[in-house]
Parts: sequence; structure tokens; C-alpha cells
Amino acid sequence: MADINCLLRRIPKVDEVLRTPGIEGLTGVYPRDMVVEAVRKTLDEIRQDIIEGCLGEGEPDGWTDPDVVRDRVVSAVERMARPNLRRVINATGVVLHTNLGRAVLCPAAIEAVHMAASGYSNLELDLETGKRGSRYAPVEGILARLTGAESSLVVNNNAAAVLLALNTLARGREVIVSRGQLVEIGGSFRVPEVMEQSGAILREVGSTNKTYPDDYRRAVNERTALLLHVHTSNYRIVGFTRETRVEELASLGRETGIPVMCDLGSGSLLAMEQLGLPHEPTVQQTVAAGADVVTFSGDKLLGGPQAGIILGRKDLLDRMKKNPLTRALRIDKMTVAALEATLREYLDLKSAVQNIPALRMIGAGRENLRDRAGALSLLLKEAAGDRAEISMEREHSAVGGGALPIADLPGWLVAVKPAALTVEELAARLRKGNPAVMGRIMDGRLCFDVRTLLKDEEIILAGAFATALGRE
Ligand SMILES: *Cc1c(COP(=O)(O)O)cnc(C)c1O
Repeated sequence: MADINCLLRRIPKVDEVLRTPGIEGLTGVYPRDMVVEAVRKTLDEIRQDIIEGCLGEGEPDGWTDPDVVRDRVVSAVERMARPNLRRVINATGVVLHTNLGRAVLCPAAIEAVHMAASGYSNLELDLETGKRGSRYAPVEGILARLTGAESSLVVNNNAAAVLLALNTLARGREVIVSRGQLVEIGGSFRVPEVMEQSGAILREVGSTNKTYPDDYRRAVNERTALLLHVHTSNYRIVGFTRETRVEELASLGRETGIPVMCDLGSGSLLAMEQLGLPHEPTVQQTVAAGADVVTFSGDKLLGGPQAGIILGRKDLLDRMKKNPLTRALRIDKMTVAALEATLREYLDLKSAVQNIPALRMIGAGRENLRDRAGALSLLLKEAAGDRAEISMEREHSAVGGGALPIADLPGWLVAVKPAALTVEELAARLRKGNPAVMGRIMDGRLCFDVRTLLKDEEIILAGAFATALGRE
């Protein structure tokens, strides 16, 4: 114990540290408060290290050495000064990774965001008439052309779209939904809870695996406001199943005069078959099937910015536009810009597949992925020297974002087994690096999936890998 006290007494005072040469200069570069805070934090950490180190019979030497203290303060200030939201290299293979920001925007969308952010724009001004315009106008025409829908509205995200639609069309009244579609989509979007928040009353029908048109029909009464179909985005019920199709609901809707709403979740404008994936009803098909309202996300399979797109019958959309909630859920100018540019790519589907990163990644062919994995594995071998074993493997990646849960995308990985570190330790170092790198741990190895790497990221990844292994 005497030992600890003696070491603790050697910890310098905050003022002393601030006066040391290498640190005094920092106040010219960073705000003084930040430097002071970094010194305090570092000294606290040193105190903690000494206490823990001594108790755990660690190596106490050098903790209070002025050079060591200075280096720790400098790196603490640098950490505090760098942005909290940082670039991450996504080598997980999950294309629409919600934790990593879902869809990467296409170049045209990035350019449009830059335009909207760096100057004034006609966001709510009609340049023809000089009168006040709608911020939704830039996308309304394109959405109508692409989907055949009569009217549209865009809000903050699809959760907001569902909330707004239910609140407008069914507050205080009943919404009929199949028990098989009461989904939870990560991050607390649960159909029953959104329903409650919207003020609508959930009327469950059918069973988990089977719901027939007659189940809906029997539940219809004078309080019914809506027939709701929810895409079971992130799971599938397989085996002995029967889902009532949107066409069937639409026919019941026409018969009873009750509107039909379809929450498509991901909502693609492109037939997934074109990317070699199983069939998914597209937005256009859902509109054509007779849904009166369709909602979907902007940053899932569409590959655009975070947004919730609502399409459908003009009279219903007009009611939504008048709902005060719409003002609270409205999108900002950068979203309008990015969404318009993304939607424009779909006017030519070939260009959409080439230019929209999410579609390009999902559609990447196995041969192409093998070549890229081969190139990455060479770079990693060079970066690692004898500090890690590198191998290539056939594997599957996932679309993610709650989209196409059973579609496995066949591809290739580069697997790494470090010699002197655990894989967890290597993964943590890469995660904390700059830029951060996220891979996935499988069978005691850290794997990098080339599908989700962007142009030139292989080189950056190899550099980060070398640093994490202690090689420069
Ligand atoms: C993803 C999803 C949502 C939520 O969409 P966000 O854009 O993330 O708010 C709602 N419903 C379904 C069916 C989904 O798949």
C-alpha cells in the first residue's frame, strides 16, 4: 500500500502538466478548456492505472514519467477534437447495415446534397410563378412517373410514414391486420406500438401462419378505417402458410369502401430478379395491385437517403398533407436533394443498377467478388508479414436493413487469423482506428467481405490492418 501512495504522490498537478513544453503549445491549436479537460482525464486515468496495476501486481514504472504523461495528454486531446461521427469501412458484407448508416448515396445524390447544403435553393419556391411552392414538388412528378401513384408525400422515415398514415386515416377507429404481420423492425418499430401511438385501434385477425381474405371480411364493421398489409421484412414464415395478397385485400376494400394500406418496408423500384435475387413485389406492382396507400423507406433497397415515402390516392394523401404531424415529420432540403437525384437514376434502370451503390453491391457477381477478394488478400498478406495468416473463402453476405432476410448473396471473404493477438483484440483495434474498419468474426477469424467495400477502400483497409498489427 505504501508503494501505491508513493506512486500516487508522484502524479503531477494539472497546472504543472499544462506548463510542460509539449502541452503548453496545444492550447494554441485546441481550445484551452479542451486541453485542461484532457489533462484532468489523463491524470485520473493514470491514478486508476496505478491503483489497479499495483493491486494486480502490474508494472508501475513509467506511469508518471513526464514524456509518457505528455504523450497520453496529446492523444487524449486528439481524440476529443476529432469528429464523433466518422468514416467506417464496412467489411461486414451487410449492404444495408443500419448501425453503419444503411445505404451509401449515389454520386449524383452526393452532388445534389452538396448543392443544397452550400447555397440557397428553391426548396419552397416555385421559380415559374415566384409564389410559394412545396418542398415535395421536386420528387412528386418523378414518383408518379416511376410508380404510377396518383399522389405522394415524403417524411422523415418509414416509421414516420406509417405513423402519419395511421394517425390521419384511422385515429380512434379500427385497423385490421393479420397476426402474421405484427412485426418488430429493430430499434423499437413495432406495428402494435406504432398503431397505439397513432391513436388507431389494432384489430388482429387470422393466425401467425395463415390469414385468409375471409378473416378480414369478418372483422369489418362500422368502426373499420383501414385494411393494413405489412411486409414481414426481416423474417419469413415458411411451411404451411397463407398470406392474403394485396390484390385480395384491394378487392375487399373496393367491396366495403375501406382503404387498403401497404407498409412495404424496403420497397424496391427494381425487380430483385434483375440482381439475381428471389422475387419481391416492387412498389409499382403494389400500387398496381390496388393498394390505396403504400409506404416504404428511402434508405433500404431504394438506396437513397433516410426518408419515408408515402404514395397513393390523392384524396387520402391530401388529408395527410393537412395533418399537423406532417410539419413535425418533414424532410430537410438535403434529403429532398438526395432523394430527387436517387429517383432520377431509376428513370433508366440500367443506370440505377450501375450508379446506386446498394444495388451494385447486391448485384455484384461471384466472379467479380472473387477477383476483388484475391486482390485484398494479397494486400493484407503484404500488410501482415508474419503477424497474421490470411486465407480466402466462399461465403454468403446479407442484404440487411430488414430486407430480404432469406436471400443469401453468394460471395467471397478474406479471413484473417492474427498470430499474437486474439481476433477480438484485432477487431477492437480496427474498430477504434481511423478510419474505423468493421469486419465480422467467424470461427475464430476476422473476416472481411469485399462486397461492401467502396472504391479504393481495399488499400485503406490494408493500411489500417497493418497499423492494428503494429506494423507501419
Ligand atoms: C424498415 C421498416 C420500417 C421502418 O422503416 P424506417 O425507414 O427504418 O423508419 C417499417 N416497416 C417495415 C415493414 C420495415 O421493413
